[in-house]
Amino acid sequence: MLDYAEQNADSLFPLEYRSYLGQAAHAVLQYCAERRTETEADIRKTAEEVGNLLIREGREFRGRKEPPLPAEDVWLGVEVAVAYLLARGLPLDADTIIPEQEWNHPHLPYRALIDLVTVQDEGDEEYTVRVVDVCDYKSSWQAGPDELHTLQRWGQAICVWRALNDPNKPHGLDSIDILRQRVVNLRTWQEYTRDIHLGDPDAVAELEKWEKRIGKLCETATESVNYVESTPGVVTEQKRQANPGAGCLFCAYRHICEDAYPHFLDADDDIDSLAHNLAIVEGQRSMLLKALKTADNEGPIQIQGGWIGFKAQPTRVMLPGSERHLVADWFEHLASKLPDEMAPTISSMLSALKLTKGNLDAFAKALFPERKKDIGEVRAEYVEGYTQEKRRIKFGVWKDEQQKTD
Ligand code: SF4
Repeated sequence: MLDYAEQNADSLFPLEYRSYLGQAAHAVLQYCAERRTETEADIRKTAEEVGNLLIREGREFRGRKEPPLPAEDVWLGVEVAVAYLLARGLPLDADTIIPEQEWNHPHLPYRALIDLVTVQDEGDEEYTVRVVDVCDYKSSWQAGPDELHTLQRWGQAICVWRALNDPNKPHGLDSIDILRQRVVNLRTWQEYTRDIHLGDPDAVAELEKWEKRIGKLCETATESVNYVESTPGVVTEQKRQANPGAGCLFCAYRHICEDAYPHFLDADDDIDSLAHNLAIVEGQRSMLLKALKTADNEGPIQIQGGWIGFKAQPTRVMLPGSERHLVADWFEHLASKLPDEMAPTISSMLSALKLTKGNLDAFAKALFPERKKDIGEVRAEYVEGYTQEKRRIKFGVWKDEQQKTD
């Protein structure tokens, strides 16, 4: 997975999960920060230009062109950003403004994308502190104070902190007293901040702890790189050893992974090949499920990154004898709450229960308990009398009618 990420390969997430709205909102903020856009007219003009660009050409990330974004999402993102900018604006009076850019950690193979970094002095004539503000904009409604305690925040903080001592650091990052982490919710306009006083040994110890943890993660990632001596004296980096397993279920590169799904999903495949492959995979899946379910195995079967087997999942079932309480509640409790003309009845109770075909089957069984030859048909006929056909649409692999008996 790391190899694909490093190659900047097509990830499933941009297609399935990534928020186009968020990308558009971030792009507007970035352009407005770069141009120091201040007036309403300029903000709207810049936002319009950014929106058109994203719809027409898409954006470019790490030198790689991405496809154009869907217009509806882009315009929603543009609106979110414009509303925020008009209400709150950007901190354009800061001494230093560094719009969205990647910050490389000097010692770790790690870089953080930071939406906005600003530097300014705070305080009064007697006491002033110099603050570097590391700001992350969030387009999710849910973004709250928890966002201050994520791996992403740690990474951003350590990259800026280490940059402070870098002789080639961006201009303006001198004599910093406080590193401020800021998360801005672009929907609610709420802001959450935490100050890290760089003169406080405990605060610095915290930064070192984050750095150590991220370092460990980087180590895990780089340790798995295969270095080979292809020609004497020349060491090159080879693809890491893939470990297909439970992680593949959620992997962003499963659509192109040659190790886990060889030959099954190729970007150049035509629709017939893809459909053919799906039929094969479905067949294999049901065969494997059956083989593993009935295998003579006592416990879970361990696989890379997880296990396969039966898992008890909590669910709730009705207590024996609850039925009479339900009936009593329906008539006694409800009768006192409803007007006379809406007095509770058995029929209204059944309708509140939203009975399903399964409930009706069980009802018919109780109604016709006899054990005789054609009792199944009698029950089916009864249920049919009180149900109607409804079409549900389901996508899948189907067998031709005439081949069902093959
Ligand atoms: S699909 Fe599985 S093996 Fe392939 S990159 Fe993803 S996690 Fe690794």
